[in-house]
Amino acid sequence: MYEWLNALSRGDFDRQQLLAALGARGPAQEALFGLARSLRDQNFPHRSVETRSVVEISNFCSRGCLYCAIGCLPQSEHFTLTPDEFVEIVGLLHARGRKHILLQSGENNSEEWVENVGVSVEKALQVYPDLDFIINLGVLTPTQCLRLRRAGISRAILKFETSNARLYADMKPGDQLDVRLQAIRDLVAAGFGTGSGNIVGLPGQTLDDLAGDLTLLHTLPLTMASSTVFIPGRGSALQDASAGELHTTLNYMALMRIMNPKVLIPTTSSLEKAGPGGQLLGLMAGANTVTIHDGTPRELKEKYPIYSKDRFMPSEEHIRRIVLDAGLVMEEF
Ligand code: SF4
Repeated sequence: MYEWLNALSRGDFDRQQLLAALGARGPAQEALFGLARSLRDQNFPHRSVETRSVVEISNFCSRGCLYCAIGCLPQSEHFTLTPDEFVEIVGLLHARGRKHILLQSGENNSEEWVENVGVSVEKALQVYPDLDFIINLGVLTPTQCLRLRRAGISRAILKFETSNARLYADMKPGDQLDVRLQAIRDLVAAGFGTGSGNIVGLPGQTLDDLAGDLTLLHTLPLTMASSTVFIPGRGSALQDASAGELHTTLNYMALMRIMNPKVLIPTTSSLEKAGPGGQLLGLMAGANTVTIHDGTPRELKEKYPIYSKDRFMPSEEHIRRIVLDAGLVMEEF
């Protein structure tokens, strides 16, 4: 066995072990994935994979992250679902058997917008009380967190993106890492099961930064953790940059599992974009959550830049196949 792997299995998460694991390839990488899978299967013995349907509830964003094209959309392209439109979409997903609905949007912490989200979920829960709602809406104030928690939303995701404060400020002009970290703690304080995570392969990011991301993640009281591969978005300021590296991201995911064995970890579509078969490898590296982008009406998808043809959007059939191939089971719809 590799000395760094022995150390990781003993709970020694020093930087030198993390750096060795991030660089593992071939048999060493297989051994890393094996440890991650055994910890996942010990902590999730039913071997089921949580399946989330995404509803893009709005494409408005007040930020301008260099890696994202949403902030660059002209005002004429903006949309926000009304509560009635939202309930109608949720009804279609419920009829398909979905249990977990992930509400996604750009960042917009106006009171009117947050109230719209709260009312939308309250109305949906009146009709479909068995649904579980998760939000990924950017930074919210503590009062807004409490409002949305009161609406019946159980979980929230706010990625810190990178633990390197300078890189963070470069990638997200006008924003600060410490503000983001406080907002994550505010979600926890409001009672949300909370998720966070990073992006692997940002221009200028180093392996040492990734080790720092793992250490930061480990200090946060999270129930969900995620990592995506940097994919330069068409129309974004970084559209000509090189994409992140698949195997480093997979090793990062395996380390997330080893360091945080009880959290839910998604295998994201960015892995498949970074390399064919990448999403299956994410499950082999210890992930246990999948996301299906089937909750946004076709005509609105054109206004959400992640649906450009640069992106891979997994179908339900693809998801079912990789879960089966990984020896896992889909959570019952
Ligand atoms: S990454 Fe999020 S916060 Fe940044 S511009 Fe895109 S939608 Fe807005």
